[in-house]
Amino acid sequence: MKELLVQMYHYVRDRFETNSGIRGLTAEELEQQIRHLGEGFEFIGPEDIINYFTGERRRLPDRACLLTFDDGLKDHFKFVYPILKKYRISGIFFLITETFMEGSVSTVHKIHLLREKLGTDEFTNLVLGNLKEKYSFKDGFKFLETDASDNYRWDDKKIAALKKLLNYKLPYKILEPLIGEIFNRCFDSSIAKEFYLTKEEILEMDNGGMVMGSHTHTHRVLSRLNGSELEGEIRDSKRYIEELTGRRFIPFSFPYGKPEVYNSKVLSLIRECSYPCAFTTVVGVNRGRINPYTIKRIDPKDIYRDME
Ligand SMILES: [Zn+2]
Repeated sequence: MKELLVQMYHYVRDRFETNSGIRGLTAEELEQQIRHLGEGFEFIGPEDIINYFTGERRRLPDRACLLTFDDGLKDHFKFVYPILKKYRISGIFFLITETFMEGSVSTVHKIHLLREKLGTDEFTNLVLGNLKEKYSFKDGFKFLETDASDNYRWDDKKIAALKKLLNYKLPYKILEPLIGEIFNRCFDSSIAKEFYLTKEEILEMDNGGMVMGSHTHTHRVLSRLNGSELEGEIRDSKRYIEELTGRRFIPFSFPYGKPEVYNSKVLSLIRECSYPCAFTTVVGVNRGRINPYTIKRIDPKDIYRDME
């Protein structure tokens, strides 16, 4: 194998509202990309990559391309699965297991949904206002001045700083009740079933040749967690997917998968749990010898941005 290109997708819809917290690729763009990729690459399926890393398969095509989809979104059943079926391609779908086990919405998506519903300015003011009043966290507004462009290249300055504060800086014991409280005021508890794949949809896709992977149980930043929390995120989420699908090998993808997230403690637990491979969000094409636990991916949104 000379090149392994792994595409990473999130939201795929028929259309996106402008100025909302939710961005992604349209189904039409995805289909165009698949046709385009097919001209230069040979699509491989999840089984090919799993067999390659478990040693059952010696070689991959010289220019191999694998499609991956993060977050277990309803979009993937509605828009992605029909396209993959049409082109007879299989992909890996990385699930957040709390979403279909407990019917809960992960904090990361509560933030997206709230931004979409309230608009960014109202959401920001609500979050920072509550932080100050209820959690005596006074530096929130000041934090918006910090430079977070490293973490969020495509967001404007204020949004990048807000995302960094919420995703990386605020302790979870403040973040989760803070966002949860605002979310519960704005959304019905049935939203999880509308927003994420249900068990039935997961099984239908699994039967149709798609492969489910783990994207942890709750989508937190793994390097911020202690040992028993990591067990829940990494070991338990794998067991839930094994039990649901009956599959033996479950691939893994790191939430917020930059190198600072997968420290040696995280990587050794991934290995110990016998995940065959793990995917990051480090941008790049994999060439030569690949470390199965730090596979690079390309976010096609980046490619579109570069062309703009
Ligand atoms: Zn994710």
